[in-house]
Amino acid sequence: MGTITDKRKDPMGAAIADYARTGKADRLRVFSSMFDEDEIPVEELFRTIDEMSGLEVTALNESRGLILDVGAGSGCHSLALQEAGKDVFAIDISELSVEVMRRRGVKKVEAVDFFDAQFDPKIDTILMLMNGAGIVGKVERLKDFFAKADSLLAPGGQIILDSSDLIYLYEDENGAVDIDLDGAYYGEVDFTMQYKNLKGNAFDWLYIDFGSLSFHAKENGFHAELLQHGEHYDYLARLTRI
Ligand code: SAH
Repeated sequence: MGTITDKRKDPMGAAIADYARTGKADRLRVFSSMFDEDEIPVEELFRTIDEMSGLEVTALNESRGLILDVGAGSGCHSLALQEAGKDVFAIDISELSVEVMRRRGVKKVEAVDFFDAQFDPKIDTILMLMNGAGIVGKVERLKDFFAKADSLLAPGGQIILDSSDLIYLYEDENGAVDIDLDGAYYGEVDFTMQYKNLKGNAFDWLYIDFGSLSFHAKENGFHAELLQHGEHYDYLARLTRI
């Protein structure tokens, strides 16, 4: 917690920097103890509003007031919001990504961990996209997340985030679900990324179903509203103080 990614251990930031500089990038590889090896297409991190999903477009339209784009990456959402005349502040723990965002024209941007962030004035919309709930890492950290959000948000402020229900990974062909109810929550995942020879540290990433999100929101003084279903077990939610 409270960490800025070491530049020498920031594969995603290196991929974003390469793509921003040259218009192309090598494979950004993703490893997990729970899944087969995967890849993030780096060009998709640079998607324009025309290339965004309906869910993302809704998220941008619903963002109002002073917007905090958390884990902003290449700045794709911040740039689209600026373009629409909205007031946005981008943060990311990757200094390489923050440098890219500055160069691409994101006006307000800072390398800071969400869990350490402090802003004056207060934020009207905390925006977290591309499985934005992921940065929470583990269910048990939702308490810290909501406390931090509460401290950052102006009265009437909102959190807009997307996530996915990983239940489909545990369903057999008959639709029966096989999960260990005594084990960790099934959406808690560990990832490691690699770009060229650069390997990052392992990190926790949370995928949370809407029911569980609503439950934990309520425990922490927030109400969850389902704004939109995505195409594959993903959804967009709005969280507001009760
Ligand atoms: N939102 C962007 C990028 C998603 S990738 C998009 O939709 O394209 C997730 C990003 O979150 C990465 O750039 C990572 O560096 C950043 N991140 C991870 N943990 C964070 C934290 N605690 N605070 C701020 N940013 C974080």
